[in-house]
Amino acid sequence: MANPLYDTLFGQHQGKNTTFLQMADGSVVTHSDFLQLASQYANLFTQLGLQPGDRLAAQIVKSPQALAVYAACVQAGIVFLPLNTAYTAAEVAYFLENSGARLMLSDGKASQALELVTSACGAILETMNADGSGSFAIQAETMPVGFQTVERSEDDLAAFLYTSGTTGRSKGAMLTQGNLLSNCQALASEWRFTAEDSLLHALPIFHTHGLFVATNISLLAGGKILFLPKFDLDVMLDLMPQATTMMGVPTFYTRLLDDNRFTREAAQHMRLFVSGSAPLLAETHIQFEERTGHRILERYGMTETNMNTSNPYDGERRAGTVGFPLPGIEIKITDSNTGETLPQGDIGEIEVRGPNVFKGYWQMPEKTAEELRENGFFITGDLGQIDEDGYLHIVGRNKDLIISGGYNIYPKEIELLLDEETGVLESAVIGVPHPDFGETVVGVLVAEGQGDLDLDAIKKNIGGSLARFKHPQKLVVLPELPRNTMGKVQKKELREQYKDLFMPA
Ligand code: ATP
Ligand code: MG
Repeated sequence: MANPLYDTLFGQHQGKNTTFLQMADGSVVTHSDFLQLASQYANLFTQLGLQPGDRLAAQIVKSPQALAVYAACVQAGIVFLPLNTAYTAAEVAYFLENSGARLMLSDGKASQALELVTSACGAILETMNADGSGSFAIQAETMPVGFQTVERSEDDLAAFLYTSGTTGRSKGAMLTQGNLLSNCQALASEWRFTAEDSLLHALPIFHTHGLFVATNISLLAGGKILFLPKFDLDVMLDLMPQATTMMGVPTFYTRLLDDNRFTREAAQHMRLFVSGSAPLLAETHIQFEERTGHRILERYGMTETNMNTSNPYDGERRAGTVGFPLPGIEIKITDSNTGETLPQGDIGEIEVRGPNVFKGYWQMPEKTAEELRENGFFITGDLGQIDEDGYLHIVGRNKDLIISGGYNIYPKEIELLLDEETGVLESAVIGVPHPDFGETVVGVLVAEGQGDLDLDAIKKNIGGSLARFKHPQKLVVLPELPRNTMGKVQKKELREQYKDLFMPA
């Protein structure tokens, strides 16, 4: 094939007047119109001097035009680099400098970022506003429709995706056409996607979940996307009767459950709800099933690998687990120090190998060598455990592991107990510096309805189920946990906030 990713996802829809995107106001974009627009964009890239292999950074609001930029990049062999719209000018400057992007598409904010870039960054700046208008659109309109698809192989880079920066500075993960293609093929088949499906899409498209999972699967199967700029409860409830599937982060599900308009009837046409990007509480799982009769399907993935595991479509979707490796993907649990495979049931580092695993971090050869083994296994930085039936349980992040007085403490064990305490909505357990123990345990709690919590009673209750060294030295209450746009708890921020709690001034 000339360009496997383009041909399989986009090229197959050439000339078809089927609905690709349906907007909240009912307007639609057909596959054919979408591809024509993308081909005009691809022509403009060429006119602006971009070559295959060049990087294009885009910090643009979710819109059909933004998605067409992705399609155009694939068609022109340009490496697509979507950026979180929440990033500040200083952050964007880092990504521009690090990636050496040739073109920056921005809704205006990036001009400041370009001024901050110190090295000779030759990026051209074009604007694209929330409605797709701007300097880029004006030029694109004058471009011919139709573009000679650039030849690529599965091994060529398709995208650079920066990791969420939960554990440290974001790293640019290099993803090939083959990485993206193999993953959406595996998922579409596992989750039984067809052209009859209509996917409720409220995720951002600068992250692997919304772009390479939700969008790619729909394109591959030829279904329709109900394309929402962001999560809006009213619009979600309004459109759900027209949808068959939804992909979301755990906060989407808790917000739906918080609304009593979300009933069994509201969800009766749906065939599948998928959750990922952050752990889904077992309680959400149970409540959701009680309310709707549906069991949410939880899966596990990351920027560097797309999706690794999924609970089964048929068969038991086990709460608190992320299911089994996808076809063609291997998972093993290893000792973080020796790298040796651990016996079934032990907690250790999750390693992944398969066609989904990225090519490495851009311009970070040392980091790449540390995390990508020569035998092809990627060391994820997540800790996990495989139960007797083969389901993978995520225990937490390696970097969140607390080492107190020489003992290893897994925050999740304590969080699960805290979450069960009366009046506790959610919790995050962190390690903070301690003069005697190196680190000690602190529990951060959020109260249900912002009510009062009896911290001494909670301490006492959970103390009964935990070895002494795991007892939180202190419990604190916050109105909410710091989270990023994907719903991931930012423990880095909490550790920073409480770092001096036990340290002499
Ligand atoms: P960084 O690598 O920069 O620290 P990040 O790991 O948060 O940031 P992403 O690639 O967006 O960046 O997130 C992947 C991570 O999200 C996984 O490594 C895992 O820790 C977490 N994750 C994804 N899905 C699940 C899930 N179903 N349950 C628990 N954790 C999940
Ligand atoms: Mg990560």
